[in-house]
Amino acid sequence: MVNFLDLYKINHRFDKEIKQIFNDVLQSGWYILGKQCGNFEKKFAQYCGVKHCIGVANGLDALRLIIKAYEFCKDDEIIVPANTYIASILAITDNHCKPIFIEPDINTYNINPNLIEQKITSKTKAIMVVHLYGQVCNMDAIQNIAKKYNLKIIEDCAQAHGAIYKNKKVGNLGDAAGFSFYPGKNLGALGDGGCICTNDDILATKIRALSNYGSLKKYENAYQGLNSRLDEIQAGILNIKLQYLNEDNNKRKNIAKYYLENIKNENIILPHNQFDHVWHLFVIRTKFRNNLQKYLNEKNIQTIIHYPIPPHKQECYKEFNDLSLPTTEKIHNEVLSLPISPVMTQDEIEKIVTVLNDWKIDCNIIKQKMDGI
Ligand SMILES: *Cc1c(COP(=O)(O)O)cnc(C)c1O
Repeated sequence: MVNFLDLYKINHRFDKEIKQIFNDVLQSGWYILGKQCGNFEKKFAQYCGVKHCIGVANGLDALRLIIKAYEFCKDDEIIVPANTYIASILAITDNHCKPIFIEPDINTYNINPNLIEQKITSKTKAIMVVHLYGQVCNMDAIQNIAKKYNLKIIEDCAQAHGAIYKNKKVGNLGDAAGFSFYPGKNLGALGDGGCICTNDDILATKIRALSNYGSLKKYENAYQGLNSRLDEIQAGILNIKLQYLNEDNNKRKNIAKYYLENIKNENIILPHNQFDHVWHLFVIRTKFRNNLQKYLNEKNIQTIIHYPIPPHKQECYKEFNDLSLPTTEKIHNEVLSLPISPVMTQDEIEKIVTVLNDWKIDCNIIKQKMDGI
């Protein structure tokens, strides 16, 4: 079986170093907001080229805290791609703001900048960009719009650690950025974790307080905050794995290059690599998605759909269920993610290519599809 993602194998590479961290943290007697977290925040800020990094409990909290810190009013609007992971939208609605869904570019799957301006109103406060699947958004176009209308840019970097746009890393392309260190991400912990990156001194201080009960000084609460902090053990593990992030991203890039050069099947649309891409996911598209997934499964290749239901069609967002977002819906109906990870073997990669190239669609299925069955 070629697993979609072998997390054991990914982390086993650092077995010794991770066990050392467990020991160090255990010995230290200090488990929250200590040396490991401080160290990681410093290193990750350096890595992203930003002034501040604040460790938090997860990626959703990172985005929630950014929006909370901006103190937007109820019903203020935040522009966001319609085809993102639900967490981007939850961060907006949790703060009583309104997500304004923008259709993606069908080639990059990222927010289409040409569709943003027509949705801006007097209530629009920010654009949340999501570097989906690991590819950087078209930031020049987005930065121009943000400047023209005086909007904040919030980056959702949960899938794009280390991706670069014009010599700057993601996390440094807007006003504030949220990262996730969920185990399966390009930089993943052994549990939940996240952080916020920003160059804004005032915002950084406020978010640090908000993530720690709203407290700047122990037992004095300036804000009504949350408890959302990055554990010492997770921070220590992230410190180790950060050293290998570029190398791992390069491995992903090489696999993607091999897939792009060698997968040849008229029924499969390969991803477009327009801007820097760190390949958190290698997402192909086909009109016969379910058929392909079943076929690959029979050939012992595990795939996942990112994502089967778009946020506006979810049960929790009944108020958006009637929106018509055809590009987003088409993408959700057609995408399939192939295995891609820094620990895949060349044999596995070649097997996937061979199996995909051998895939043929039964004429009956094509006819059924055309008849809309
Ligand atoms: C994973 C992810 C998040 C949320 O991160 P968690 O750490 O799981 O809360 C947010 N946005 C996107 C695009 C993600 O992929």
